[in-house]
Formats: sequence, C-alpha cells, structure tokens
Amino acid sequence: MLDTAFFLSWLTLAAEAVDREAGRLTELDSAIGDADHGSNLRRGFAAVRAALDAEPPATPGAVLVLAGRQLISSVGGASGPLYGTLLRRTGKALGDAPEVSPGEFAEALRAGVAAVAELGGATAGDKTMLDALEPAAAALAGTTDSFAAARTAAEEGARATVPLQARKGRASYLGERSIGHRDPGAASSALLLAALAQAAE
Ligand code: ADP
Ligand code: MG
Ligand code: MG
Repeated sequence: MLDTAFFLSWLTLAAEAVDREAGRLTELDSAIGDADHGSNLRRGFAAVRAALDAEPPATPGAVLVLAGRQLISSVGGASGPLYGTLLRRTGKALGDAPEVSPGEFAEALRAGVAAVAELGGATAGDKTMLDALEPAAAALAGTTDSFAAARTAAEEGARATVPLQARKGRASYLGERSIGHRDPGAASSALLLAALAQAAE
C-alpha cells in the first residue's frame, strides 16, 4: 500500500530533481520556448515543499491536491496549470483514504493525465508533456514494480519528442523549427516519474 509518507517523499524527491535539473530544463526551453521552464518549476516546487512542510496533509489525496493548488497559484507559465491539474485531479481521484493500492494510484494518475489533455487540448504526438505522461500512466500496471517501467516509458517518451513538430504551446509558434529538440515539459515529466520510481524503491 502507498501511504501519505510515500506521496510526501515523491514530491520531495521531485522538488530536488527539479532544483538539480532546472538549468537543463531552461536550456531546453530556450531552444523552442522562452527559457523559463526550469525557473517556473523550481518556483512551483519550492511553493509545494513550503506548503507541505507548513501543514502536512493527512492523506495521499490531500497531499496531491495541496501540491497541485500550489503549482497553479505559483507558476505563471503554461506548465503550472497543467502540472497543477495533473496532481489535483489525481489527488481528487484518490479520495480521502489513508492509504491507496498501486492499482488505485495507477487509475487515479490516468484520470489526472486525461485532465491535462482536456485542459491543454493536446494529445500524444503534439510534442508536449503528454508524450511522457501518457505512456508512463499506461505502464503503471498496478504494482510498485511497474513504477520502474513507468520511469522508462516517460524517459523514452521524452526522447521521442525530438523529431516531432510541436502542435501545442509556445513551441508550436516555431513550426518546423521546433523539430530536432526535446520538449522541455516532456523532459520535466520524465523527472517526475523518475522521482516516483525512486520513492517506490
Ligand atoms: P510557457 O510555455 O508558458 O513558458 P513552460 O515553459 O513552463 O511554460 O512550459 C512549457 C511546456 O508546457 C512545454 O514544453 C509543454 O510540454 C507544455 N505545454 C505547453 N502547452 C501545452 C498544452 N496545451 N498541453 C500540454 N502541455 C503543454
Ligand atoms: Mg517557457
Ligand atoms: Mg513562459
């Protein structure tokens, strides 16, 4: 079972990874965006950490809802509302159970990813975070063992954005010039999934 401490650990590891990789994320965004993805997420996850430290929620669902709300309110860029929606919707789907099974989490994450697709109007292949999130959510087979498979799926999905032309978000303004670069949001999604697998180790 996955308890509240597991979800707190996931988000702490995710915040550390974002801190560590912020420079690389901003560099990716400087190629096909406005060079702020690393700083956007760093600010967002610092707010997440501060909120979770100030008043640690009692359930897995409440941890994710609070984190999502912080991302929405602290990040100005597109990624804030999108990642905020991902966490908030996933948290809501978990309800108020004190522990959830890996299967329940896998199902909740699929609902969260669907909410991101609905909010942003993107689908896999549009060169966005969904290119990492969708295969990762699909790889979560309802066991903690499958968290490593989800990490691999997200990383491969992010790598596969390189030859794509962006059809959503700021990078789409570049048209064909967006080809040949990894999507920054897909790269950060791979970091979030790596942190999840790390929390499950
Ligand atoms: P902004 O583009 O507003 O500066 P960020 O740089 O923080 O915001 O985030 C950019 C990332 O957000 C992109 O690399 C992409 O993965 C993701 N993104 C942008 N628009 C969408 C969308 N409509 N649907 C899904 N993801 C999107
Ligand atoms: Mg940007
Ligand atoms: Mg921006």
